[in-house]
Amino acid sequence: MLKFLAEAMFPKAFTCDICGIETFGSNLCPDCAKTVELNDKITCPLCGRRVLHDGVCIECRDLPPLFDKAVSALVYNGGTQKLIAKFKNGSEYLKEYFADLICEKLKGFEPIDYILYVPMTAKAEAKRGYNQSKLLAESVSARTSTPVAYGVIVKSKETPAQKTLNRAERTDNLNSCFTVNDRKLLKGKSILLTDDVLTTGATADAMTKKLKTAGAAKVFFATVASVEYKQKP
Ligand SMILES: [Zn+2]
Ligand SMILES: [Zn+2]
Repeated sequence: MLKFLAEAMFPKAFTCDICGIETFGSNLCPDCAKTVELNDKITCPLCGRRVLHDGVCIECRDLPPLFDKAVSALVYNGGTQKLIAKFKNGSEYLKEYFADLICEKLKGFEPIDYILYVPMTAKAEAKRGYNQSKLLAESVSARTSTPVAYGVIVKSKETPAQKTLNRAERTDNLNSCFTVNDRKLLKGKSILLTDDVLTTGATADAMTKKLKTAGAAKVFFATVASVEYKQKP
């Protein structure tokens, strides 16, 4: 009971979001903070992933993304992987910390008309209890005063197995999973999509294809983290 009261009165800011020990003045203890890496070094101007050399990464050069630009606040490794796993497994409150990071990254960004989120099938959302991408959209919206457009694009069926497919095949494979419900709202608009992690960019591309076919002028992605792109020598 006392523990419950203490937790109610002193919110999560006083325990480390990764290891759970007591912290002061930060949501991460000093040791865990070292394992969360800001994506603030060299990044690809298209996919936003950390790269080793200036300029567009080889993957984007070989197959340019369909979306206009993506940015991500953290590099998807170490403590960030743990944080995102927690975020997808009940720690919904992390949306506030993540939205702060995303908004920091969005300073001076392109003008945006609507924020959208990566939809889940009704079944998948019911199973998790929430859609983490939607939580991020709402928290970014609260900080930027850009409205969230709900239900404009929905996921009508589960993603089929993708492991053996390349990026272009994954995009096609995913394309049939999404349905646009409101073309009128999208016409000529700049859209920002929020999500937790950008990995291959196949989901981002598939959604962009749908949204642009429906009339959206520009589609941008902002994610909490992205996988570092390590060029092969
Ligand atoms: Zn810690
Ligand atoms: Zn790239």
